[in-house]
Formats: sequence, C-alpha cells, structure tokens
Amino acid sequence: MSELDLSQIIDTITLGVLVVDQECRIVHWNRWLENASGLHSPEVRGRSLIELYPELNGPVFQRNFRSVFSFGNFAYFSQRVHGHLIPLPSSPAAGSTGDFMDQHCTMGPIRENGKVVYAYIVVEDVTEAVKRERLLSELAMKDVLTSAYNRRFFDRRLLEELDRCKRYERSLGLVMLDLDHFKSVNDRFGHLFGDEALRRAAAAWNEAVRSSDIVARYGGEEFCVLLPETGPEDARVLADRIRRSVSSEDVCFGGQCVRITASAGVAFSRPGDGPDDILRRADEALYRAKAGGRDRVEVGE
Ligand code: GH3
Ligand code: MG
Ligand code: MG
Repeated sequence: MSELDLSQIIDTITLGVLVVDQECRIVHWNRWLENASGLHSPEVRGRSLIELYPELNGPVFQRNFRSVFSFGNFAYFSQRVHGHLIPLPSSPAAGSTGDFMDQHCTMGPIRENGKVVYAYIVVEDVTEAVKRERLLSELAMKDVLTSAYNRRFFDRRLLEELDRCKRYERSLGLVMLDLDHFKSVNDRFGHLFGDEALRRAAAAWNEAVRSSDIVARYGGEEFCVLLPETGPEDARVLADRIRRSVSSEDVCFGGQCVRITASAGVAFSRPGDGPDDILRRADEALYRAKAGGRDRVEVGE
C-alpha cells in the first residue's frame, strides 16, 4: 500500500500546523499558516522559526522545545497564560482584541525509528472565543441601564476589599449615593427622562473617581462607590467631588432640562467589619445627608 498523503488533511484544516527540525528550522508550514502569516511555505521552509519570530527566543519556548527533543514531551501553551505563541496578526473578521491572534498551541514530538527528529506545533485561533468570553463576563458584572457595575459584582468586591483590609491593615472608604427627589423627576419629566438622568449620573461618577475605585448601581437610584486604600480625609474630598460631578450641569433630554443633585454618606472600614457593618454606617450617614437638606456629603462616625 502506498504511504498515506496526510498533507491533504493538514492543508485544509482550520488550524495552523508547522513542523520544525532540531535546529528549529521550518520543515512544514501548512496553508492555514500561509494565510494567517502572509508568508508562503516556499519562503519559510528551511528558515529558522526563531529568526522569523524572535519573540520565541525566550525561556518558555526554548525550555519546552528542548524537552520535546530530549524527552519526547508535549507542551501546551494556553491563551490564558501566554495570549499567543506565534505572533500572528489577528484577522479583523475574527473580531480582533489586540494586535495579535489569541491562540491555544500544542507542541509535540515526531519520531522516526524511535528517535525524536521533528517537533510539530499546532496553532488554534481562539480570538473570537476570547472576545465572546470577555463580552459575557463584562455583561455579567455590569448594570444594563447605566453600565455601572452591578450589585452582585459590588458585593463580591466589597468582601474582597474588606478581606484585604483585615490582612494588610489597609483602609477602605465606601460612599453611598442617592439621587435627590428622583421620584419627582420621573413624575415631572417621565420615566425615559429618569433613565437618561441615571445614565448621566453614573457616567459623571465614573469620570469623577480614580481608576481603582468602583462605581456600582446598588439598586434603583442608589449607587455605591468603593474607594480602596483611601483614608477619611481623601474619601471626604472624593465623595464631595463625586457628589458635585452630577449637580454641576443640567441633564437635558428630549427638549427638557433639569438640575439633578445627589446626597452621599461615607463610611470607613473598621477592624472586624463585615459588609453589612460598613454598609449600615454609610446608609446612616446618607440618611443624615438627606435629613440635613440633601445635595451634601455626611461622614459616618
Ligand atoms: P430622596 O431624595 O429622599 O431620595 O427622594 P426620592 O424621590 O429620590 O426617593 P424615593 O425612594 O421616594 O424614589 C426613588 C425613585 O427612583 C422612585 C423610582 O421610580 C425611581 N427609580 C428607581 N429606579 C429607576 C429606574 O431604573 N429608572 C427610573 N426612571 N427611575 C427609577
Ligand atoms: Mg432618592
Ligand atoms: Mg433611594
């Protein structure tokens, strides 16, 4: 029986397949790789893969490459850890998330007469899956109306931050915000206007905070902001900046304009605090801000 010509399969599958010898010179470069790299097989055959992609000249690839030849080992390069192995451009059709294609790659030995003489590398393009996964996890932690973080995400982060406070003796600030007389905004201008005002408030608050702070919609027209590593003085200043950011200009929508204000209560983590403790103190401070006339910040004891 004549030898089976596997190149018919290898050249039509939707995976990159390449084979290199002990010096890492390219012996095979399938059609998928030609398309993905823009390099034709005759151009690359005989050339060093490492010269072609100097990024491979690092310890991870080198160590794994040697162990394929020395021990016949297999290596798996997960996208989660490495992003990509072979720096190929990601195709716009795949919904690129960066400059390079996201990849899962496998490397293994090819033996002749029991001796490892080649290594193969299989490249799987997972750019689309990575993009989908990022989108889903983004959706799972964001509020649909305002794109602020949702309560589930906030509750988890609050637990984590309190845990960090306990372990590393850090301070955590928490601002609870509530839009003032919002029911009457809805009553006067309609629910759609109210929705737009909520979106603007969340956007303004997101602008006002630092990148490490977390603005979350806690429910209805109530929001919480987590201020990691923030002591009382900074938190008071930040809370006031957050409060003012929404009331500094009118919200206009559908030809109608109104000035929206918010009240805020600030609390700080204390040793032994659970989420309910710090939330309760922020809520009490918020109550005082409301009772004191609204559009202001009160700090918990
Ligand atoms: P206070 O200053 O005491 O906070 O008064 P308030 O009117 O803001 O408080 P109240 O709790 O009486 O009313 C909250 C209002 O927020 C009522 C509710 O319809 C409105 N609200 C909550 N969630 C949404 C939403 O998703 N969209 C809109 N448009 N309104 C909302
Ligand atoms: Mg309110
Ligand atoms: Mg409320």
